[in-house]
Amino acid sequence: STLQMPGPESDGSKPSLPPGMVLGPDGKPCKICTAFRNWKPPKPNVQDSVASTQSRKKTTAAMMAALASGKGFVSQPEPDIRPEHCPPDVEQLGRATWTFLHTTAAYYPERPTPNQRANMLSLLRSLPVLYPCSHCASHLEDNIKTHPPDVSGRVALSRWLCQRHNDVNVRLGKSSFDCSIEKTDERWKDGPSD
Ligand code: FAD
Repeated sequence: STLQMPGPESDGSKPSLPPGMVLGPDGKPCKICTAFRNWKPPKPNVQDSVASTQSRKKTTAAMMAALASGKGFVSQPEPDIRPEHCPPDVEQLGRATWTFLHTTAAYYPERPTPNQRANMLSLLRSLPVLYPCSHCASHLEDNIKTHPPDVSGRVALSRWLCQRHNDVNVRLGKSSFDCSIEKTDERWKDGPSD
């Protein structure tokens, strides 16, 4: 797991850091785990180093509390405006990954060969190992354990993936998507009928 237990710096203060800032497995703030608009490192207080230390302690404690809650991180309401050349944040990476996965599922064969099944299984099982947002990967690993991928055909796979995406949606407080093949095909393959 990537969750960090409170370390010696934690003073049990109430969370005060910008919501959405996340620690990685190394205990340091994790950029790819954090929405860009939430990526606001605390400003050092040059006038008062004691206050600055207290502020850092509170920030660490708040990060720990947010992580320990196991819930998704609530994004700040500001629009996601950033220059083109910026690396992806957790949301851009997520949208791109879901786009790839749902589209690949939508075009997966109705009757896949054993080789196609094996490769799809391998792709899905590699995600918790390789996905760069560590807490996302950790949640996905747990989710896949309780809900093993159904690679038997494109309808089953599209549904399975939709449900896994809904699990993330619910965790992040977003609404669920209708996982019928009509709706997933409309979104990822055919487009609206009119
Ligand atoms: P997204 O959730 O990225 O969805 C993109 C589009 O897919 C939507 O606009 C909608 O049209 C469609 N859609 C929505 N739900 C479904 C569904 N169930 N089935 C089919 N289509 C659907 N972010 C975090 O902050 N914390 C996490 O722990 C986290 N874990 C993640 C784990 C994985 C494996 C992935 C791929 C992403 C994860 N993310 C996480 C990112 C998060 O899921 C979103 O991608 C991100 O917040 C951007 O959300 P969005 O509202 O733009 O739409």
